[in-house]
Amino acid sequence: MEKKNKDKPAGLNILKGVDQPGMLNISAIKKHKSRKLIDIKVQEYVDGILQGNPVLLSRAITLIESSLSQHYVIAQQILDKCLPFTGKSIRIGITGIPGVGKSTFIEAIGSTLIRDGKKVAVLAVDPSSTKSRGSILGDKTRMAKLSVEANAFIRPSPSSGTLGGVARKTRETILLCEAAGFDTILIETIGVGQSETTVHSMVDFFLLLMLPGIGDELQGIKRGIMELADMIVLNKSDDHTKDKINLAERTCINALHLFPPAVSGWIPKVQHCSSVTLSGIKEIWDVITGYKQFTSANGYFEQNRKDQAKFWLYETINNELLRSFSSDKRVHARIKLMEHDVLLNKVSPFIAAQQLLNIYLGKD
Ligand code: GDP
Repeated sequence: MEKKNKDKPAGLNILKGVDQPGMLNISAIKKHKSRKLIDIKVQEYVDGILQGNPVLLSRAITLIESSLSQHYVIAQQILDKCLPFTGKSIRIGITGIPGVGKSTFIEAIGSTLIRDGKKVAVLAVDPSSTKSRGSILGDKTRMAKLSVEANAFIRPSPSSGTLGGVARKTRETILLCEAAGFDTILIETIGVGQSETTVHSMVDFFLLLMLPGIGDELQGIKRGIMELADMIVLNKSDDHTKDKINLAERTCINALHLFPPAVSGWIPKVQHCSSVTLSGIKEIWDVITGYKQFTSANGYFEQNRKDQAKFWLYETINNELLRSFSSDKRVHARIKLMEHDVLLNKVSPFIAAQQLLNIYLGKD
């Protein structure tokens, strides 16, 4: 006889010889997948997300990522209804040059957290990715272990558009993942253009992965990125001698000392780990939990989220206005001519800009 756990509903007891259903109801998945995105009612999306249904969560994210205005409207309605259930996670940004081990690290820390009973969503911001090339997380062979975990949700970077567009979609995806019960959101970014700064403005904790043994110039790390880091992790410690790791740690600590103190009052930490042997991974999580406690106690955690919400309000207005302006037919008909005149010094850039804005605003 199998040992029965009295506290669990009978349906959860495992009986020998009886095939156990998978975590996901396959027929339910087929049912949802065979329907068009717009055939599913907003409330059905919301209920599914709040119940942690990964298929409806994925489909809702597809609506967020879609460029069709019809999809955009439904996505916003879903978001609106999910909003009261968001915010209860820790959002962690992870950056570093390609090859430093971001995917391997995320898999290592993600699996460790899941073993501790956490629900982990992994998102990415990679404005350079396209569907055909495959985005940084799109490659199925990466994060193979994490991707089969029932309590993990992995979503590649939205594949199209400007950094602003990709970032908005990722921010909205964070909210849906939180509503679906994910308590840890890991956001991977690659060092392209402004993507680290953008990700920094949507996370609570920013982690920079580096390698021991080579200077930060060689690692392509801009000083501005180091300044954003709440923690520097030297990955691949299994591949380096203790002396090299110690030296690299001291170099990083010295470099961090040169920056002015962070508004959060937090002193950035430097640690090392191996994402392959998992040595040091738990200690990194301890630092992140310590950060949350520290910044919650001094009020920064909440204040930072408020500041970020404000930033995204204005950022969205800016992006939307620019998009609407650039796609305006009247503006489109004149802008190249104006640019030409500005280059020939026939008209000042300020006057040309004002004239174009007047055309856009219908004042012309
Ligand atoms: P990413 O481009 O930053 O996402 O890097 P990947 O996670 O794809 O890792 C790049 C390579 O480094 C892969 O071959 C990994 O197996 C290897 N790697 C990642 N972490 C470690 C580590 O801690 N130790 C060792 N020895 N190799 C690692």
